[in-house]
Amino acid sequence: MSVLITNIGELVTNDPEADDLLGVRSDAALVIDDGRVAWVGAPADAPAADEVVDADGRAVLPGFVDSHSHLVFAGDRAEEFRARMAGERYAAGGIRTTVAATRAATDAELADGVGRLVAEMRRQGTTSVEIKSGYGLTVADEARSLAVAARFTDDTTFLGAHVVPPEYDGDPTGYVELVTGPMLAAAAPHARWIDVFCETGAFDEDQARAVLAAGAAVGLRGRLHANQLGPGPGVQLAAELGLTAVDHCTYLTDQDVHALRESGTVATLLPGVEFSTRQPYPDARGLLDAGVRVALASDCNPGSSYTSSIPFCIALAVREMGMTPAEAVHAATAGGAAALGRADVGALVQGRRADVVLLEAPSHLHLAYRPGVPLVRQVWVAGEPL
Ligand SMILES: [Zn+2]
Repeated sequence: MSVLITNIGELVTNDPEADDLLGVRSDAALVIDDGRVAWVGAPADAPAADEVVDADGRAVLPGFVDSHSHLVFAGDRAEEFRARMAGERYAAGGIRTTVAATRAATDAELADGVGRLVAEMRRQGTTSVEIKSGYGLTVADEARSLAVAARFTDDTTFLGAHVVPPEYDGDPTGYVELVTGPMLAAAAPHARWIDVFCETGAFDEDQARAVLAAGAAVGLRGRLHANQLGPGPGVQLAAELGLTAVDHCTYLTDQDVHALRESGTVATLLPGVEFSTRQPYPDARGLLDAGVRVALASDCNPGSSYTSSIPFCIALAVREMGMTPAEAVHAATAGGAAALGRADVGALVQGRRADVVLLEAPSHLHLAYRPGVPLVRQVWVAGEPL
């Protein structure tokens, strides 16, 4: 079954061969066939297809690639959010509230929650999502969290090293031994990636190094949560190890920025967190000007960023972080794909997976210009309409 989308007012291709960042084509058409982008060109030249969709001058974009989320959890933390907005400072320990609720939930309840959030994301144009564990923090609960996540995505990430759980209070070394031993063994069959929350109050550099090395030894690729709440060693560790991505990057030194540029590690910025925790935003402008590759992701989780909306993150990136709308859209599509090491998504060029978003708007600018407005008119994931 082939689909021709024609009369596209603005087609964002992210074609790496194009002169402009987004590879924009005006007055364009696109053919989806067998789940892939089969053809891109002018409407007058378009080949026949089984179905025709008239975009009537609207914009078409690659689906968003959300490279950082924590969707496997139970409960919510609305009360913590209320207290924080009333002046209480955010600390990493709030994760334990979600851990208790997640351990008490059945697999079916966890899967229902992930399914609801993935559906919510897709309605807002997200067609690829990475999903982490990290609210189980026992061997069995981490393994089942990842098994649930794997029903929804290939990009599953083992985050046993999210926070030290209460039963290991005073014994973080013992907990790291559990994470790198039996927990990793149980998690690895369901995971592609391994991640560590490298931050004061969570795990230090040596512990992060140990966890990433253990993951690498069983074939998991590394990523890191780093430099979110203050300066720290995580970003330079990620660069030293040549990780695909390091996420948050809110507090960076010049040396951190230099290390990212040299290593090519993608800096994934998560402005929903700064919005929801009332922290300073990361310096996206400085990173881009320094030549660092940048991705935008939601960090969707019940504590520090309970948004599933990449359009909201794009609006924040433009309004609060000095990104142009084109840079923000690129970071949320091609940038997310780079942050997951994915060559099959993030662009609308021939051969890529047909992850396509038709906006209820004439250009990508409207994603930042009209914040909070549902502008996604239609979505195809691997060529299938939602
Ligand atoms: Zn996170």
